[in-house]
Amino acid sequence: MKSNVYFIDLRATYKENLVSKLERLIHTAGLSETIKERDLVAIKLHFGELGNTAFIRPVFIRRIVDSIKSMGAYPFLTDANTVYAGTRSDSPNHLATAIQNGFAYSVVGAPLIIADGLRGRSETAVTINQKRYKRVYIGTDIVEADAMLSVAHFKGHELSGFGGTIKNVGMGCASRRGKLEQHSTVAPKIIMEKCVGCGECIDHCSQYALSLNENDEKAVLDSKKCFGCGECILICPESAIQIEWNQAIPVFLENMVEYTMGVLKGKQDKTLFVNFITNVSPACDCYPMNDAPIVKDIGIVASKDPIAIDQASVDLVNQEQALPESCLTTNTERGEDKFRGVYPEVDWTIQLDYAESLELGNRNYSLTKI
Ligand code: SF4
Ligand code: SF4
Repeated sequence: MKSNVYFIDLRATYKENLVSKLERLIHTAGLSETIKERDLVAIKLHFGELGNTAFIRPVFIRRIVDSIKSMGAYPFLTDANTVYAGTRSDSPNHLATAIQNGFAYSVVGAPLIIADGLRGRSETAVTINQKRYKRVYIGTDIVEADAMLSVAHFKGHELSGFGGTIKNVGMGCASRRGKLEQHSTVAPKIIMEKCVGCGECIDHCSQYALSLNENDEKAVLDSKKCFGCGECILICPESAIQIEWNQAIPVFLENMVEYTMGVLKGKQDKTLFVNFITNVSPACDCYPMNDAPIVKDIGIVASKDPIAIDQASVDLVNQEQALPESCLTTNTERGEDKFRGVYPEVDWTIQLDYAESLELGNRNYSLTKI
């Protein structure tokens, strides 16, 4: 049995511009079956780190908000705080960042609520009884919402290969404790022969786990302080910080999938997923920058199935030719795996296989262009 995934390309006409097409897409994918009158609807977004410009533009979110309001429901925009140093690690800074990136009420027409409270401690334990976790910790206001629309920017990710719906839901909705739990198996190490002691990594570690040795020649990592966010891996210009990819990544991906299961528990018929396959940057929107896209803008997909939508999105990206000015130097041809091209060590299929084994969805899908 295949799951339905609906797709719009980026063509537009005077009769129907792109935001109107987006509205048609979410209705075709099942918005009216997902949301009832008076539902409190969490629109789960990533507001973008300050300095990043690849996140989804607020004008699209405004149309989603208007659609939900027209059904008599009450949407709010939400995300949970981050655990790394940045501009979204507590609610005041997170809200200020969101507004600076254009998500003010006057633009999007819905209030912003940071789901795990002032310092990321407002969480609800959800029992899942799975291999890695018995309970997972989710931002309370997402658990308490009646329905959820996950609106994800599809792009590359240094720990999961790509970041789409599973990442937006499983990692994005987790409280601070939940995020720490998921990252706890990612333990980086310094490759001394490669480290030139530039110190770039030190300011980027929220846990003060990195420092220079006595002679200021090499970085030193305090493994007791490190929680495995992976931020330093991309920051190092010499690729001197690495993890045990074969051991750490499969566990990390399974952790994230089990968290996805916790977020969706009780909301199986009350969630809809949207992926914007635009500005497909090589890394996460959590960085205060985004490198050039690896493929051209492709379109937007929507589905009731969180696995099918990510599988369809990765397939749509991999069908494209790499953009010549991007960071991709291998796997550039149509049909080649662009995400393995950027992150050769990360087997992104693990998250989809494991999610399918937990019956969260289906990798087998039918793509309908509307
Ligand atoms: S050392 Fe690296 S992985 Fe560990 S907490 Fe600091 S930035 Fe994150
Ligand atoms: S950024 Fe890389 S090269 Fe520079 S000090 Fe840190 S580990 Fe060493």
